[in-house]
Amino acid sequence: MIKKYYLLSPGPTPVPETVLSVAAEPIIHHRTPEFSRIFMEVTEGLKYVFGTKEDVYILAASGTGAMETAVINTLSPGDKVITINAGKFGERWGNICRAYGLETREVVIPWGEDFSPEQLAAEIKNNPGVKAVFTTLSETSTGAIFDIKGFGQVVAATEAILVVDGISGVGATACYMDDWKVDILVSGSQKSFMIPPGLAYIAFSPKAWKLVETSKLPKFYFDIKKYRKNLEKQTTPWTPAVSLVIQQKKALDIIKSLGMDKLLQHHQTLGQATRAAVKAIGLELLAKRPGNILTAVKTPAGVDGNKLVKTMQNKYMAYISNAQDPHKGEFFRIAHLGYMGGFDIVTALSALEMTLLDLGYNKFQPGAALAAAQKILREGWQ
Ligand SMILES: *Cc1c(COP(=O)(O)O)cnc(C)c1O
Repeated sequence: MIKKYYLLSPGPTPVPETVLSVAAEPIIHHRTPEFSRIFMEVTEGLKYVFGTKEDVYILAASGTGAMETAVINTLSPGDKVITINAGKFGERWGNICRAYGLETREVVIPWGEDFSPEQLAAEIKNNPGVKAVFTTLSETSTGAIFDIKGFGQVVAATEAILVVDGISGVGATACYMDDWKVDILVSGSQKSFMIPPGLAYIAFSPKAWKLVETSKLPKFYFDIKKYRKNLEKQTTPWTPAVSLVIQQKKALDIIKSLGMDKLLQHHQTLGQATRAAVKAIGLELLAKRPGNILTAVKTPAGVDGNKLVKTMQNKYMAYISNAQDPHKGEFFRIAHLGYMGGFDIVTALSALEMTLLDLGYNKFQPGAALAAAQKILREGWQ
């Protein structure tokens, strides 16, 4: 067989051909009206996707760079914060905050479990003087999403700011920064924004900007005030990742022409189809509140989960993702964010059925996952 490769991981995600090809064009200089025009168009497009009137800053970094930017620009040594750790990425908030000497109350939630606004309200009540709450829109390590709108209502009634990691979620699931009272929203280019890795995005509410004025943590490359000053001149403090910005303009054209509502509906259809398909072959979801970004599926009893992922990746070249440490092999993750179409899901599910049969798991009717997915895809196709 020709080994055709299918990227079905929750980041990096596939990039549309028209977006790939603009990276092959000659590099233009970044201090030119030509680049500034593109740069400002991207900034505007990002505001649309973030659901905010605030400026969205473009950093040459992976998503974690924007997470660090949120922390170091708003807080001072010894400040009290709450971080919600419901998986690998929520855990990262705690790691960043502790690295900068913040007094960190880390709420640890078992992977796949939910955390409610009421629980958050109780945490804030029990930890007076908290300056910031750090949470995750879509926990990519588990496929769970969280009630950011509810968190926004809770945190808005306090002195604290709400900082949301929307790195995989923004662009695949609803998150309206201004309406939902999110104070800092961060995202990254290689998840739902349909371009390669390398750019990170961040926006601040007026409440967050107030904290920026008093923040004493050390900062230089990610000093957001430098970005704000330079954006007034339609530029960046440092050399921007020119080709990626141009690719983002092209990908935002696709997003804008479809419109956010339809884009979110699309991911909802893919999510529903994937969930129905794995249930149809007797498998279980990990997340209590699964999102439409990716689907984490528990490895069925009697199957070696690491072998399952390796077979899908290496034999069928259907590059889904394993669970991350310390849960490797316990579940696997099928992605449907970014530039994924209905047939990407069908590919993943077909490879999954074939892999399960290869590994001797045959408690299902071959084709049952595909039939369940196809039904939902046909109904949702528009
Ligand atoms: C991918 C991801 C990150 C980390 O982003 P990098 O680009 O690898 O730095 C953080 N949070 C979430 C939710 C993610 O999906």
